[in-house]
Amino acid sequence: MTASTRLIDGFHLVVEALKANDVATMYGIVGIPITDLARVAQASGIRYIGFRQEASAGNAAAAAGFLTGRPGVCLTTSGPGFLNGLPALANATANCFPMIQISGSSNRALVDLHRGDYQDIDQLDAARPFVKEAYRIGRVEDIGRGVARAIRTAVSGRPGGVYLDIPGEVLGQAMDASAGAETVWRVVDPAPRQLPAPEAVEHALRVLAQARRPLIVLGKGAAYAQADNVIREFVETTGIPFLPMSMAKGLLPDAHPQSAAAARSLAIARADVVLLVGARLNWLLGHGDSPQWSADAKFVQVDIAPSEFDSNQPIAAPLAGDIGSVMSALRDGVAAHPLTVPTEWTDELAERAARNDAKMRERLAEDPHPMRFYNALGAIRAVLEENPDVYVVNEGANALDLARNVIGMAVPRHRLDTGTWGVMGIGMGYAIGAAVETGRPVVAIEGDSAFGFSGMEIETICRYRLPVTVVILNNGGVYRGDESPSGTDPAPTVLSARAHHELIAEAFGGKGYHVTTPVELRSALSAAIGSRTPSIIDCELDPAAGVESGHLANLNPTSAAKPGKVSAGG
Ligand code: ADP
Repeated sequence: MTASTRLIDGFHLVVEALKANDVATMYGIVGIPITDLARVAQASGIRYIGFRQEASAGNAAAAAGFLTGRPGVCLTTSGPGFLNGLPALANATANCFPMIQISGSSNRALVDLHRGDYQDIDQLDAARPFVKEAYRIGRVEDIGRGVARAIRTAVSGRPGGVYLDIPGEVLGQAMDASAGAETVWRVVDPAPRQLPAPEAVEHALRVLAQARRPLIVLGKGAAYAQADNVIREFVETTGIPFLPMSMAKGLLPDAHPQSAAAARSLAIARADVVLLVGARLNWLLGHGDSPQWSADAKFVQVDIAPSEFDSNQPIAAPLAGDIGSVMSALRDGVAAHPLTVPTEWTDELAERAARNDAKMRERLAEDPHPMRFYNALGAIRAVLEENPDVYVVNEGANALDLARNVIGMAVPRHRLDTGTWGVMGIGMGYAIGAAVETGRPVVAIEGDSAFGFSGMEIETICRYRLPVTVVILNNGGVYRGDESPSGTDPAPTVLSARAHHELIAEAFGGKGYHVTTPVELRSALSAAIGSRTPSIIDCELDPAAGVESGHLANLNPTSAAKPGKVSAGG
């Protein structure tokens, strides 16, 4: 090597590889051995957003993946930092969101002989069961390849989470700069279209044409696919009623005349042919089982992952391919297989929807003191109707179940929630990801318990001056806050009923509001969205409002020995 040879180290090569693939933002927490990676990234134009807990950084990256269709990138330190980030990567994988967790790791020679290194964990093996793929880069000259492989794997086929392990010693290695530049490449067409077989399309259209009570179920895969126009064209030309899963709300507006959302149970119970578009027949859809579904319902399923078919019910017409391509083929083919949707079916749904809608309006209009969930949500709904392009993040038990029904969405990919796992703790990470990626205002509708899982990220929201408003539906407990204890400590479900969460925002320079009526809530929320100032609105609810486990009470095993009934030795 001559004295004039320029060198490049692992830190710079990782950044070059990410930039070559248009990664514009990284979410993370610095520490050994990746602090310089964040510095180099920031210095070379990648935006670095630093968090207070890695799971939130990971959740922000996952939200970025869902919203943009490109992998969100999360950066973690070795050992515990890596472990903190892993649940978010696992959750992204469960939700089919593309995401990459890049983690520094400890010295391989020490870890593999269990010699006891700083924060030593075999991170690659630890990550493997929870992710779509896990890779380790062992040499500086493999950094470009490792990043390319991670990107390709995260977005192609069924999207998911990829773990990319980079030991500290690899980041510190150097190589000739021009040779290094040749090791980095840009992934061509990272998520190639996958066309369905023409005969599969023909068959699916024939099955649909036999339907007397057809139904389309749109899932978050359909939202993710960014095939909004073709999906709308197919729905509208066929006239088939549709039902959006929670994160597909807004793909077609909830106020669309073909929406069966307000008659959900009836639509599911009575449909005879169901077209699933980017929605799995998992627990969220009762596994397709009767009596929730009609026992002789036939399913047509559009999915990029063929192994999804028959996972719960026989799929009469599987359509393997990307949603854009499959829905285009269905739209083009429908002329040759005219579908008529009997008016008895649409009338039946419309009648039930009108009845349910009237009931909902009645509940929203009540004005009890203290306020309950519906009354608070009625106020939020009114403000969001005036601001349809605000992003909505939603988590909690009652706060989730009720907001999902009450808050209509008019624009695609504007709702992010607890998703496939129904997991708590995504709130602030998703809100930050949505605000950073889109620059638009975000409203996070949070149960007070759910908020606690990521609440310290309010500091992150304030530090980056993000236009995020957190509305805390505060009934002082997990599910509700009015349970009496059996002993001297608070009951297991009870939190601080009179907490003033708004003061947390004020502690970091944001704005706090404390409201006790729907009128106050409406005015605070309009002001907070309009100002684009980081804000918390603490809504004081009746601690007796809310039901245990929200809509999922049926998933709770009942205790054979309830407190008070415990037998000796039990
Ligand atoms: P929901 O919870 O809203 O019902 P799911 O997460 O269960 O939705 O289902 C999403 C499905 O969408 C997954 O099975 C996934 O493989 C599929 N999917 C994701 N992206 C695409 C795409 N571009 N084309 C086709 N299918 C997709």
